[in-house]
Amino acid sequence: RVGMNVQDLAKLLHRDATEIIKKLFLLGVVTNQNQSLDEDTIEVLAADYGIEAQQKAEEDVADIDRFFDDETIDEAALVPRAPVVTIMGHVDHGKTTLLDYLRKTNVTAGEAGGITQHIGAYQARLNDKLITFLDTPGHAAFTEMRARGANITDITILVVAADDGVQPQTIEAIDHAKAAGTPVIVAVNKIDKEGANPEQVMNQLMAYDLVPEEYGGDTIFVKISAKMGQNVDQLLEMILLEADVLELKADPTQPARGSVIEARLDKGRGPVSTVLVQQGTLRVGDPIVVGNTYGRVRTMTNEKGHDVEAATPATPVQITGLNEVPLAGDRFLVMADEKTARAAGEARAKRAREEVRNASSVVTLDTLFNTM
Ligand code: GDP
Ligand code: MG
Repeated sequence: RVGMNVQDLAKLLHRDATEIIKKLFLLGVVTNQNQSLDEDTIEVLAADYGIEAQQKAEEDVADIDRFFDDETIDEAALVPRAPVVTIMGHVDHGKTTLLDYLRKTNVTAGEAGGITQHIGAYQARLNDKLITFLDTPGHAAFTEMRARGANITDITILVVAADDGVQPQTIEAIDHAKAAGTPVIVAVNKIDKEGANPEQVMNQLMAYDLVPEEYGGDTIFVKISAKMGQNVDQLLEMILLEADVLELKADPTQPARGSVIEARLDKGRGPVSTVLVQQGTLRVGDPIVVGNTYGRVRTMTNEKGHDVEAATPATPVQITGLNEVPLAGDRFLVMADEKTARAAGEARAKRAREEVRNASSVVTLDTLFNTM
């Protein structure tokens, strides 16, 4: 490519040539109106004006995007996996109480001993079958993750307090579940309370296409008391039943991929992220791209803080070893080697920065180069 001169560039950018000369001077480039500029200079200038820089790296990014999107499924390698469940519902209807009950009772799958920590997800066990619970109830988190492309929930548990009935956030939760395309199991909660009216909840929910089986519909309703633990095992049974219907499977033999549940910066350990493996098996030492960052899995622990060597599909684990803190909903992918992971992560980070910078820009660097 031959460089264009300052005057041409000025015209394209709708700026005065003198302004450009001044700007270049401040960037350490002494020039005049007719002097041709090399590609690097144009790029620096363009960046300064908030214009997208077309880079070879973008091709690498496109490759990574393809890796993220093209899931080659080998039917023969598929094995059943645990369902991933999100609990939603109106405020104070008992989401936290239910999650805490599940966590406290020895249904949690992590080996005995050790204090269960909040890492954003955990697994419960019923009759040797596992269920993965995302324990960040909150509709915002759910939508935010979906917006980032993470569709990780298989089943939504809709908690509705029997003494309060359908409320605005109940309806919001139903909408989220519908948008995500997950089946809903209704947990009619607080049945231990005086004034509890589970039948009313069932009647109200029919208006939202959630019709109980006993009324001829196909939605599972379980009447529970999250506080007392009443019928919680039955709820778990129903989740497993629904999971059977969904025939959830994954291939543990591929390079691992999945999504970030939550992440934060730890003073001593650096970026700490809870990830959910969705395909493949994640291992300590794996080179990994996560959203716009990368690294190598240094440590991997479960919700009890115990070391885990390998995490199969539907298993949530907390990992360290990333370069930066990723975002909830970011996807991750294990790469062939650390160099590739680094190149991919850096290319993605660069693109993200450019997207921010160019949010308001009309002219692209491509336009500039193509007119040369
Ligand atoms: P969240 O906002 O949906 O997470 O609701 P919480 O789990 O924080 O519960 C709100 C209140 O309802 C708390 O005071 C709980 O103790 C109470 N609660 C939750 N489940 C039950 C239940 O099954 N029975 C009774 N009596 N109270 C409950
Ligand atoms: Mg809560």
